Amino acid sequence: MRAWAVTEPGPVEADPLRLVRRPVPEPGEDELLVRVRACGVCRTDLHVTEGDLPVRRAGVTPGHEVVGTVAALGAGVTGFRPGDRVGVAWLRRTDGTCGYCARGAENLCPASEHTGWDADGGYAEYTTVPAAFAHPLPGDVADVALAPLLCAGIIGYRALRRTSLPPGGRLGLYGFGGSAHLCAQLALAEGATVHVLTRGAAARRLALELGAASAGDARDMPPEPLDGAILFAPAGDLVPSALRALDRGGVLSVAGIHLSDIPPLHYTDELFYEKELRSVTSNTRADAREFLTLAARHGVRATTHTYPLSQAPQALRDLKAGRFDGAAVLVNDLS
Ligand SMILES: [Zn+2]
Ligand SMILES: [Zn+2]
Repeated sequence: MRAWAVTEPGPVEADPLRLVRRPVPEPGEDELLVRVRACGVCRTDLHVTEGDLPVRRAGVTPGHEVVGTVAALGAGVTGFRPGDRVGVAWLRRTDGTCGYCARGAENLCPASEHTGWDADGGYAEYTTVPAAFAHPLPGDVADVALAPLLCAGIIGYRALRRTSLPPGGRLGLYGFGGSAHLCAQLALAEGATVHVLTRGAAARRLALELGAASAGDARDMPPEPLDGAILFAPAGDLVPSALRALDRGGVLSVAGIHLSDIPPLHYTDELFYEKELRSVTSNTRADAREFLTLAARHGVRATTHTYPLSQAPQALRDLKAGRFDGAAVLVNDLS
């Protein structure tokens, strides 16, 4: 099969991704072999490709928003059949035995493995996934529309829950890409007032189309104090202004896996009155199930921009440059 591999992490402009030939992977005892139909492009793929995240597997194939069909099953797998449509997401495996796993926080498992970082992901004709971490998908939504839900959607959902937004609360979204535009739809469906703060006129237009109450520049103050905010942009220098925008008792969640440095905080203006700054780390399978159920119920739809899988590097370059709004999805044209 053909697969994209990160040969030497570096700026995407210098072509760190190479299209290589590899044997179709053998599913392990508890794994599924999945033929990739579509794979969403997540900012984390950019971080893996450019080396913002340390190398966990040399020559890794990125991609962790995979919609595909089961092509083969390991000997120990039950509950799936060849031809089933499944989703492959970021959280790939946990030990299931540590204290975090025992208390329902498997997203914090120190032994967790991640698709497209510790193991090869979906920028390829085939990938594998432990069956216990594969997500059955509803039959009536197109592959391309589903793919971005599998990381961007799930992480946005976890970030939203981490803000502990009160019913009917005022939510600020800093940055408005793949994850934020899905999060916004769910928050609006649940009755929140949403203010979007982002550079990029196209993203601000999309925000207003989806029902945001306001859309301003990332450094603007929202028109009213916020009960909660989520920082989707990987820009630590936005943390102080997002904290200032919070009302008393408000929570700022940082959704990204990577953030540039946060400048010194001013305690009185940015943290006092019980404002809270929280991070968001990966997700649990329960987050994924809850989000996929809610997304189907509320008709949450990704605005997508498709590329052939053979053009994956261009999709990453365009993501980096902010050349599209919504989420990019690679469609398998290699097989
Ligand atoms: Zn664990
Ligand atoms: Zn992701």
